Amino acid sequence: MRIGAIEAGGTKFVCGIGNEHGEIEDRISFPTDRPEKNMSEVISYFEGKGVEAIGIGTFGPIDLNPESEMYGCVTSTPKPGWSGFPFLPTLQKAFNVPFGWDTDVNAAAYGEAVWGAAQGLDSCVYYTIGTGVGVGVYTEGKLVHGLVHPEGGHIMTRRHPHDHFEGNCPFHNDCLEGMAAGPAIEKRWGVKGHELPADHEAWEMEAFYLGQAIAGTILMLSPKKVILGGGVMHQEQLLPLIRAEVQRALNGYVVADELKGRIDEYIVTPGLGDNAGLSGALALGKAAAEKKLNLLNG
Ligand code: ADP
Ligand code: ZN
Repeated sequence: MRIGAIEAGGTKFVCGIGNEHGEIEDRISFPTDRPEKNMSEVISYFEGKGVEAIGIGTFGPIDLNPESEMYGCVTSTPKPGWSGFPFLPTLQKAFNVPFGWDTDVNAAAYGEAVWGAAQGLDSCVYYTIGTGVGVGVYTEGKLVHGLVHPEGGHIMTRRHPHDHFEGNCPFHNDCLEGMAAGPAIEKRWGVKGHELPADHEAWEMEAFYLGQAIAGTILMLSPKKVILGGGVMHQEQLLPLIRAEVQRALNGYVVADELKGRIDEYIVTPGLGDNAGLSGALALGKAAAEKKLNLLNG
């Protein structure tokens, strides 16, 4: 089966073609721009490629409620032209195939559950720590939408005692994203994250914020795997610091081997590596194709 995948990110769009086994055969990438421009790039990429379904994992916030008039639209964003833009309907007009539609982080969580680090598990949480912080939630075999969709990057944080940075989120200042996303690191220390040495105190502080958020996630959702992706996680020293911080924050309260001796297998980077987003979109496309087949076959 030929399946299309679209990963729409804040800085770039990635489109690809893959199959039902998660193998990506071709891809293209272009900068995120005004929606009309990006849609025509997406359409010309998929035209004539014979895809049987297309999965979309996109930046948000988006409307995921099929009953809503705004279903398939980006709802509100500072990105020029994108507020209210009918992303899914525009592509549905161009291609008469089933579509999968979800947030970029829900897509990544799903891709990891189908082909990656959470394969075979019925729950996982996917964090991206990059230009922003986003959280995708897969639980009891389903992606969580709820009222709108999870926005776990903006939960409130308890401050690190040595941190005097005011925070960087335009809505909440010192929420998780405001304290721990790539731009927050850059603003706090005056240099980009990749320029800070591995033993810089920035990383212990970073782990403090991510660790407390992940501990909260474990308390709230009890996921069977926690997966951490995004540019900031390229700092390899971070992962062990985060695991230790989660254990410190939970303080033995939640009893599971995964939170003790097996924490190295429990809090992990994406099994699909930097492909988590595009593979997630591919998995959404595969699910949309299968749903249609099931409907046709009764
Ligand atoms: P996006 O979130 O836009 O999809 P990324 O996940 O690559 O893209 O995140 C970009 C952010 O991650 C930037 O703020 C950048 O400074 C930061 N970043 C990228 N690589 C590294 C690195 N090796 N170490 C620390 N921070 C990094
Ligand atoms: Zn915020």
